[in-house]
Amino acid sequence: MRQKNIKTTDVLIAGGGPAGLCAALAAASLGAKVVLIDENEVLGGQLVKQTHKFFGSEKQYAGTRGIHIKDILISEVEASSSIEVINDATVMGYYTEDGIVTYIKNDDFYKIKPGKVIFATGASERMLPFPKNDLPGIYGAGGVQTLMNVYGIAPGNNVLMIGAGNIGLIVSYQLIQAGVNVQAIVEAMPKIGGYLVHASKIRRAGVPIYTSHTIKEAYGQDAVEGAVIWEVDEKWQPIPGTEKDIKADNICLAVGLTPATELLWQAGCEMKYVPELSGHVPVRNMYLQTTLEDIYVAGDAAGVEEASSAMVEGRLAGYSAAKNLGLGKDRADALIQDALDELSSLREGEVGAKIRKGLEKIIV
Ligand SMILES: Cc1cc2nc3c(=O)[nH]c(=O)nc-3n(C[C@H](O)[C@H](O)[C@H](O)COP(=O)(O)OP(=O)(O)OC[C@H]3O[C@@H](n4cnc5c(N)ncnc54)[C@H](O)[C@@H]3O)c2cc1C
Repeated sequence: MRQKNIKTTDVLIAGGGPAGLCAALAAASLGAKVVLIDENEVLGGQLVKQTHKFFGSEKQYAGTRGIHIKDILISEVEASSSIEVINDATVMGYYTEDGIVTYIKNDDFYKIKPGKVIFATGASERMLPFPKNDLPGIYGAGGVQTLMNVYGIAPGNNVLMIGAGNIGLIVSYQLIQAGVNVQAIVEAMPKIGGYLVHASKIRRAGVPIYTSHTIKEAYGQDAVEGAVIWEVDEKWQPIPGTEKDIKADNICLAVGLTPATELLWQAGCEMKYVPELSGHVPVRNMYLQTTLEDIYVAGDAAGVEEASSAMVEGRLAGYSAAKNLGLGKDRADALIQDALDELSSLREGEVGAKIRKGLEKIIV
């Protein structure tokens, strides 16, 4: 690996999903020079495969499909002369001694010295331990979505979906739309975790949803041929004698996401385990500034939530980072307040209760 000259920028953003794109636009709108780095060829993060229409308010593009929200945000980023996009590149680390960020592109090693860094690295899919979970044909739901919606490939003919949260329900519906037979959805909780509107669509399509059930084991010779599921009691203990055999050539795991926080750990930010936010997340203030004053976090890396809140968090982090560099003095406070108000309204009511509880534990 060669080492290139060190360049500087006001704000560096790691991750070009909804949070990173909005952070870049926000910081640039206040006059910051921004470098946005993403490991993929195309920006957009999870949005690249989300063909369904979004909820939320007009400000978060409600009624627009995720893939179109991605196009809107990318065209705004491309139109900004203050934002440099570096794609196909992976951010490797942040070094507190000198405030340098390193990344790799095409086997070359680069250093950048930013004024502020925003980590918007998203989340990774969780795996589930069960016998034969390494058979070909067992995928994460995000992987299935990528195969279908990005590459146009059906993952199989008969799918068993594990998990009835929003992701499990949405991906099941997309599988049905693609002509794939969804044999059943299995959910360990006593009730469906996702929105009723998604569950109703699935039920209308005749797919059984087994709540208080889990997967016992997968079976198959060279690839998955089916699975045995069984009921669990209120303590999630399996109940012998309740086994059911489900034939499937694809098992899709939609059992949750974990914040992708490796870079925040490496940088030395104070981290805390908050189950309501789906794992270890950085301690921060209400402006998303971590315990290291030059590092901000936004989106799923700050706690797994939704693209709508990821976009607003991105804006909040972008405005806050720019403001702390002394930029946009006349407008920053009002924009920050707007973003805070928007986040509060997104997290209102019963739907936002879990996230509010999690945030109470992490915001200092
Ligand atoms: C199947 C599915 C359905 C969903 N449906 C909805 C919905 O209907 N409505 C809704 O609001 N939300 C939905 N969500 C959730 C939403 O997609 C996420 O909450 C949102 O994408 C989070 O945005 P983000 O920018 O934080 O992360 P991501 O979108 O994951 O983007 C993170 C980006 O950072 C990149 N990256 C990570 N590490 C590095 C690194 N070291 N260097 C460079 N780049 C890096 C990743 O490759 C990725 O491009 C869904 C999610 C899934 C998986």
